[in-house]
Amino acid sequence: MKYDYIIVGQGLCGSLLSYELMKRGKQCLVYDPHHLPGASAIACGLINPVTGKRFVRSWWYDKLLEKAQETYEHIGALLGNCLIRTHELYHIFSSEADRSAFCSREDNELHLMDVDIAPHPFRAPYGVGRIAPCFSINTSALIEGWKAELDRHNLMCPEPFDWQQLEQTGEGIRYKNIEAQKLICCGGASDAHNPFFKNLPFSLNKGEALVVSLPLTDQQTIIQEKYKLVPLGEGLFWVGSSFEWSYDSARPGAAFGAAVEAWLRNDLHLNFSVVQHGAAIRPSTIDYRPFVGLHPTHSAIGIFNGMGTKGFLLAPLFACHFADFLCQGTPLPAEADLTRFAKALLRHP
Ligand SMILES: Cc1cc2nc3c(=O)[nH]c(=O)nc-3n(C[C@H](O)[C@H](O)[C@H](O)COP(=O)(O)OP(=O)(O)OC[C@H]3O[C@@H](n4cnc5c(N)ncnc54)[C@H](O)[C@@H]3O)c2cc1C
Repeated sequence: MKYDYIIVGQGLCGSLLSYELMKRGKQCLVYDPHHLPGASAIACGLINPVTGKRFVRSWWYDKLLEKAQETYEHIGALLGNCLIRTHELYHIFSSEADRSAFCSREDNELHLMDVDIAPHPFRAPYGVGRIAPCFSINTSALIEGWKAELDRHNLMCPEPFDWQQLEQTGEGIRYKNIEAQKLICCGGASDAHNPFFKNLPFSLNKGEALVVSLPLTDQQTIIQEKYKLVPLGEGLFWVGSSFEWSYDSARPGAAFGAAVEAWLRNDLHLNFSVVQHGAAIRPSTIDYRPFVGLHPTHSAIGIFNGMGTKGFLLAPLFACHFADFLCQGTPLPAEADLTRFAKALLRHP
């Protein structure tokens, strides 16, 4: 059997890259057993214009957001599901310094941020800042829906890809009885152990999150303090997340669950019941930029990865750039181009 591309991994990256390639008329066979939830399944897909302790505006925000909105709307229409929601985010200041960091941002002038907004039900001795608009992606509808779409076209293979059985031929690659022009790795954190890309400077970290049921009537506002409380609809809220740089296992841990429960109960005075507790490893990179491109010596093998903490904002535009590069040879943006790590990739096979 012949395909244009094999894609290994159907999280956010594998889904969006296969979508962009299929839009260009290419046949992609996608492998993913979905044994364990990947980062995309655990995330709430928040897109926030300003992030971090200093409320810095996200890199390339306007053009990334424009492509993200267009992509999630198109895929949503294809799947018959609304994938993107608009929110306001209320940031409860933790101190005077936090408040003045917020107030000093020039984005106040862009009307993305303002302070001391309308009443809210939480204790906030230093006040509250508002960031809007923010967006969230229905991550399970995206991943599950795209999986069903691939299935419908017999393009989903629910097996782990076995690297031992991969052969490179003059024309491309062969895997079992399948031939393809190229194979693209979209394995998230697992690509840090991938035989072709293990030398890339991944900076993996673990994240945990809960889904809780809460009696809050406001199903639109995101609350941000120690954690983020993001409405998912129908009384469910996502609460997260942790950033753990050292961890023994990728599984959910009792300490995070206890800390979030204490925050909800003691700080926000909310009654709740826990519906789900998940954990996954974020595929972050040392320079906070994605890995996009083909291997410098194994030119039939490429990677689309390294989306870090902002995958839902970054991946749509870079999936489009990568598909244009693969189909038409259009150069990749230098910031994401894999060639910046060619030396590391050439050092080992
Ligand atoms: C707790 C948490 C919260 C987050 N919150 C946000 C957020 O609010 N906003 C945001 O933009 N980003 C967020 N992120 C980051 C975001 O989730 C990631 O940037 C993004 O999902 C990475 O997508 P991916 O496709 O590269 O990896 P993944 O989603 O991990 O997908 C990789 C897939 O590859 C498959 N795979 C691996 N190896 C193989 C193999 N050998 N064969 C076949 N399949 C294989 C896995 O099964 C998996 O499905 C969060 C992450 C976490 C953990």
